[in-house]
Parts: sequence; C-alpha cells; structure tokens
Amino acid sequence: REAGGGSLEVEAVTMRFGGLVALDEVSLRVEPGRITALVGPNGSGKSTLVNVVCGLYRPSAGRIAFEGRDVTGLSDHRIALARIVRTFQDPRLVPHFTVRENLLLGAHRLLRHSGVAAALALPSALEEEARQLAAVEAVLALTDLTAVADRTVSTLPYGTRRMAEVGRALLAQPRAILLDEPAAGLSEAEMERLAQVIRDMKAMGLAILLIDHHMDFLAELVDDVVVLDSGRVIYRGDISGMRRDPGVIAAYLGD
Ligand code: ADP
Ligand code: MG
Repeated sequence: REAGGGSLEVEAVTMRFGGLVALDEVSLRVEPGRITALVGPNGSGKSTLVNVVCGLYRPSAGRIAFEGRDVTGLSDHRIALARIVRTFQDPRLVPHFTVRENLLLGAHRLLRHSGVAAALALPSALEEEARQLAAVEAVLALTDLTAVADRTVSTLPYGTRRMAEVGRALLAQPRAILLDEPAAGLSEAEMERLAQVIRDMKAMGLAILLIDHHMDFLAELVDDVVVLDSGRVIYRGDISGMRRDPGVIAAYLGD
C-alpha cells in the first residue's frame, strides 16, 4: 500500500437543489499533509460540498480532481476506490455491532472489491485479510478505542461512537479524508484526543478537510481556512486573518 495522500481540487463547483443554490462556484484545494478547515454558518453548504466531492450528488457545474485525475460525477463507490473517504455529520455505524466489527466493515469495503481472489480465499486474499485485521488493531490503538473494541456501539457514549466513525474511515485507507463536524458534541478531553488523531493523519501525509466551528480547537490544528456563506467562499487564508475578517464577522452576526 502506498503511504501518503493526494491533492484534492474543487474548481468552480455549483450545486443546485431545484431553485436553491447550495454551492455557488466554490473553489478550494486540499493538499496532502495539510489540514484545511471548512467553516461557515448553518446551511452555508459545508456538508453539500462533502456530498458532491464524495459522489452522493453530481455537481450542477464545475470540476473535481484528485491526484490530477478528473473525478467529477463518479459514484460514491468509485470515489472510495480513489481513496477519498469521508465521515458523516451523523455517525453511521452499525449500532448492534461491536466497535471492532464496525472497523472491520470499514476495511472490508475495499477488500470486498478485490473480487475473485477473495471469494476463492487464495493466499493473497488471506494475507490481505490478515493485514486488514492488523490494521484494525492499529487503528483501535491510534483512536484509543482498544478498551471498548468488544463493546456494542449502541451502548457507548456519543463521543466514543464519533471516534469509532473516524477510525472506520481510517480503515478505508484514505489518501484524502473529509471530516464532517467530527468534534460536534464532544467533551474537551474527547476533542483533545480527536485533535491528536487528526495530527496523526497529517503526519501520515493525508489531505484533510475538517468541518468544524470551535475556533480554539481549529486554531491549534489547522493550516488553512475556507469560509462559506450561502454557498459562496467568502474567505480563504489563515485562521487569525479569518477572525479579523469583516465579511466573516458579518456572516456570523447575520446567522
Ligand atoms: P451546512 O452543512 O453548511 O450546514 P448543508 O450543506 O447541509 O449546510 O446545506 C446547504 C443548503 O442546501 C441548505 O439550505 C440545505 O437545506 C440545502 N440542502 C442540502 N442538501 C439538500 C438536498 N438533498 N435537497 C435539497 N436541499 C438540500
Ligand atoms: Mg453540515
């Protein structure tokens, strides 16, 4: 497996839902080894951007490229095979499975498509399976979930479930990862743990897009910030500049 990440480019992407323009010629770039925050008031188009990049919706206009390849309009399945991986704003784990089983599902999403070799349990597929099991244990350790690995997800506190969702995304071998409000509802201690995991992703060279609005959390973590308001990019730069930007302040006061 190739380590590291790739550059994700969103070029002038527009997304319309009927008469509503959810994204209006949005351009941004997420670089490997960098954490880019996507910030903006409720309804500004943040989740829609993730949905469009990940193939849930085909953009009305514009282009998305990953590692130099045009991926505009590919299915969510093809996007996952390109190693662009996302988490959902509402965690989507299988509630009656354990944490370890949910993580294995994340790993199997790719394995399933290795096809005939896996079906016939050829040695290469068995090796791959063993590698996946080892990867699950590594991700459990990284996300601090080893102690709860055998617990049923539905019995766990919200913050632990969110971390498991991040772990499951990591098992899909991302080269770019899009995290949709992973810190929502977390305690301070859980946020600190999440920040450490995101720093680990950065050290692995992944391209990271992080949707969040906790300014102190972001200030310690991110390299670049893009601010959306009503589907438009109103700021691009660093976080200290964002906090002083009159357009950004107005967008939040108007919320
Ligand atoms: P954010 O994540 O920034 O809070 P969203 O991307 O979820 O915002 O939503 C942006 C706008 O697009 C909102 O007005 C929302 O109601 C609308 N929207 C999102 N998804 C759909 C959809 N599938 N159909 C119609 N409208 C949608
Ligand atoms: Mg959202």
